[in-house]
Amino acid sequence: MILLTISVKLVVMEDIKNVVIIGSGPAGLTAAIYLSRADLKPLVFAGVSWGGQLMLTTDVENYPGFVEGIQGPELMDKFRKQAERFGAEILNENVTAVDFSKKPFKVTAGGKDYFAKSVLVATGAETKWLGLPNEQRLIGHGVSSCAPCDAFFFRDKKVVVVGGGDSAMEEALVLTKFATEVTIIHRREEFRASKIMQDKAKANEKIKFLLNSEVVDVLGKDNVEGVKVKNKDGSTTDIAVDGVFLAIGHLPVTGIFKDQLELDEKDYIVRKTVGEGSQAFKMMTSKEGVFVAGDVHDVSYKQAVTAAGYGCRAALEVERWLEMESD
Ligand code: NAP
Repeated sequence: MILLTISVKLVVMEDIKNVVIIGSGPAGLTAAIYLSRADLKPLVFAGVSWGGQLMLTTDVENYPGFVEGIQGPELMDKFRKQAERFGAEILNENVTAVDFSKKPFKVTAGGKDYFAKSVLVATGAETKWLGLPNEQRLIGHGVSSCAPCDAFFFRDKKVVVVGGGDSAMEEALVLTKFATEVTIIHRREEFRASKIMQDKAKANEKIKFLLNSEVVDVLGKDNVEGVKVKNKDGSTTDIAVDGVFLAIGHLPVTGIFKDQLELDEKDYIVRKTVGEGSQAFKMMTSKEGVFVAGDVHDVSYKQAVTAAGYGCRAALEVERWLEMESD
């Protein structure tokens, strides 16, 4: 006799969340504050490394409300506690897959499937690397993208920072607390960084600038021993240093959404407007019921305060959309 076991997985109505938030930077946690205060009991997948880019920074001086500035991780801790105070459930797990093809939407994390009426994507953006083989090989052995995390290891050493934006200036300034010499290597003549950050870097005696130059290789066997730099005239120069810090921007974290949501040519999530006038939903993605907020869709601003603002807007729209759906 052949015994056939058919296992049928049923999604029980009570198990369906109103909203799952993916991401726990300023956008995700602001949304969690709004949605928990609206009594919608959001479930937040914060990720194993929760908190987003501010966890990798030190002084935050431009987030309104903190006259003397605040440390990035401390600010994110406050965001999180504020969301938890109103009942947001926050799990430090990475989402490994999503299925937005049918409702309820499915989100997989920690080997378990979760179901939700709506999803808010706020996965942010992560470090961009030069993509050089030796750069990748020596990550953690002198190559880093986080001065606040690793500057301590470069006491009395020489380092370079690659990039010409605010991040490069900030990383260089942090490194001067430990290193003897910090050289910012930038591929152009003009900086992208704001004037105030450029001025701070230029005023620091330990910081030197190498312009119109590109890092084309990282030198060293077990640890960084130098960089090979291509000069404007095409010649190359080897510079002896102990550390290389990358500050060349970020890439949106959208790998798990590739077949599910419309992405632009740089892989940022495309934000859609659905409906018209004051009732329009402006934080929707290509899939109705899936919303987006923060750096994962924001090519231009990438500020903690703009991410928080987007989180607020998306949360208010999720709330209105759920009301509409239940009518
Ligand atoms: P960014 O403004 O995009 O600057 C990236 C820099 O890296 C640019 O100078 C760019 O050169 C260079 N770059 C990019 N790809 C490169 C490559 N393959 N090889 C060599 N160089 C490369 O990025 P960011 O500095 O991370 O700043 C992102 C956002 O965060 C900005 O809005 C910034 O204002 C903000 N932010 C603010 C603060 C602060 O206020 N304290 C601190 C950090 C970041 P080109 O200029 O030639 O394109």
